[in-house]
Amino acid sequence: MIKENLAYVEEQITKACERSGRNREEVTLIAVSKTKPVSLVDEAIDNGIREFGENKVQEIMDKYDTVKAPVNWHMIGHLQRNKVKYIVDKVCLIHSVDSYRLAEMIDQEAAKKGVKCDILIEVNIAKEDTKYGVMEDEVIPLIEQISKLTNIRIKGLMTIAPFVEYSEKNRVHFRNLRNLYVDIKTKNIDNVDMKILSMGMTNDYVVAIEEGATMVRVGTGIFGQRN
Ligand SMILES: *Cc1c(COP(=O)(O)O)cnc(C)c1O
Repeated sequence: MIKENLAYVEEQITKACERSGRNREEVTLIAVSKTKPVSLVDEAIDNGIREFGENKVQEIMDKYDTVKAPVNWHMIGHLQRNKVKYIVDKVCLIHSVDSYRLAEMIDQEAAKKGVKCDILIEVNIAKEDTKYGVMEDEVIPLIEQISKLTNIRIKGLMTIAPFVEYSEKNRVHFRNLRNLYVDIKTKNIDNVDMKILSMGMTNDYVVAIEEGATMVRVGTGIFGQRN
């Protein structure tokens, strides 16, 4: 099942890249394995996947210990400050930084572990009440502030677009995030290396790629429905 799902997703990614004149290598597929057992993670690994996304600290810790193959773990969910210490040296990228206080904690814990931590700023691009993430007009001031923390490297932006029936509806949000990303890149802020745009999930990753996503986070489309 996973093999077929991955083949389908891969084909969609390739076609979206072709349509938008992009190289397939510009887009990284992150398989979102949250709530799914390690047996399915292993199956995805057997089919060539090396990037996995999880939204809970405990689950990252468990899978980090259990999965034997060398893979990269991405923290994509809301992160509490008191849990940063458990994952700062286990994940390759934290996608969900949305406050200076959280960034400060990541910086401190990274220093203790002697690592540099790569992060993305989560943006609430559609201004939804129910979502985490910073509002568009707060992003640049926040990045300027976080850029002074020496154990953190800001790599880009992330968003979770609204749940919509037709993915076309999210195109405007992806485009807005891309524009913000380009604005920040142009500013050449010290210690900020904008190269990752993490946007698009099972329902809308094709549109996200057409609008410039460099990482897409696909769960259901690979592993099937979650309970
Ligand atoms: C669960 C989750 C995904 C994957 O969602 P699907 O719709 O199953 O593809 C992507 N990003 C984040 C932040 C998530 O929490």
